Amino acid sequence: MEIKITRAAALKEKPDSSKLVFGKAMTDHMLIIDYDAGQGWHDARIIPYGPLQIDPAAKVLHYAEEIFEGLKAYRTADGSIQLFRVRDNIDRMNKSADRLCLPQIPEELAVSAIKKLVEVEQDWVPREKDTSLYIRPFMIGLDAALGVHSSHHVQFIVVVCPVGAYYPEGLNPVKIYIENEDVRAVKGGTGMAKTGGNYAASLRAGNRAEERGYSQVLWLDGVHRKYIEEVGAMNVMFKVNGKILTPDLNGSVLDGITRRSCIQLLKDWGYEVEERRISAEELFDAAESGALEEAWGTGTAAVVSPIGELAMDGRKVTVSGGKIGEITQKLYDELTSIQWGRTADPHGWITKL
Ligand SMILES: *Cc1c(COP(=O)(O)O)cnc(C)c1O
Repeated sequence: MEIKITRAAALKEKPDSSKLVFGKAMTDHMLIIDYDAGQGWHDARIIPYGPLQIDPAAKVLHYAEEIFEGLKAYRTADGSIQLFRVRDNIDRMNKSADRLCLPQIPEELAVSAIKKLVEVEQDWVPREKDTSLYIRPFMIGLDAALGVHSSHHVQFIVVVCPVGAYYPEGLNPVKIYIENEDVRAVKGGTGMAKTGGNYAASLRAGNRAEERGYSQVLWLDGVHRKYIEEVGAMNVMFKVNGKILTPDLNGSVLDGITRRSCIQLLKDWGYEVEERRISAEELFDAAESGALEEAWGTGTAAVVSPIGELAMDGRKVTVSGGKIGEITQKLYDELTSIQWGRTADPHGWITKL
């Protein structure tokens, strides 16, 4: 499909790449592809960035018929631009689409559209260390009627923005509060889909954790309220007695691409990785006995995020002496080296622009 490009008449001033705030400085253009049942995907276009015109009765505004993805384009030392595991993002978007009754988007169409938008916005891919262009594809159901049905008219939209290191002050361990009232997702619900509604449901616990002086929520499973699922909007991993533990993909945990990449690297390095149910109690016991050596979250935005403290119901433990652990640091270094092209890519994760 041809992608029609309409250039913006005036270009914005680019922000200082040493002071980027995550997700704020949107670029000059965006990509839209329409879908209509019976017709399929049509009218792929890159147009000047600006407000969408949406009917107030559109399904997305009332029934959260929305899915999204997040990935990045990286500037390498030779000035070229590359994407990390973009096909995995589109594959996951199609799994989310299936759950939300949104249409499948052909992988080739989505990947070529993303590449084209990044090419148009190439001057926005920053060069400073640890900076990248964050890519946010999303899909919305637009039928203008308040009846509860899946939409026939849908749009796939991509917006991009330059971002800096997620933690400008460096990889400092974060304090995590284990939430035992609200739940993020349950098996059979939408936890395995990347959909906005999951985030809306997570805001209250996030605010509560912040009020208590914690930066992220650790989510327990919605049925037993016992087993660890994710931390904030990241997957979570623990090093216990030399082994790596991470919650299995049980239907309510999101299949993170950073999670998959970390598991692959850890296996490459000879670590045993167990994907299984892990109770909060097992974790606190391991921490108190000294068996819990490291804990970290994984996700595209922060790559890895060390956990320095865990708290629940008056129980509180420090992890790795409140410092970043050795494996956490090694994962960060190796993944970011592959992403910015400083080291070889043995697993075929990189797509050049
Ligand atoms: C996006 C997301 C992740 C991380 O996935 P990545 O592909 O590694 O960025 C983890 N948990 C939730 C709930 C998410 O939405």
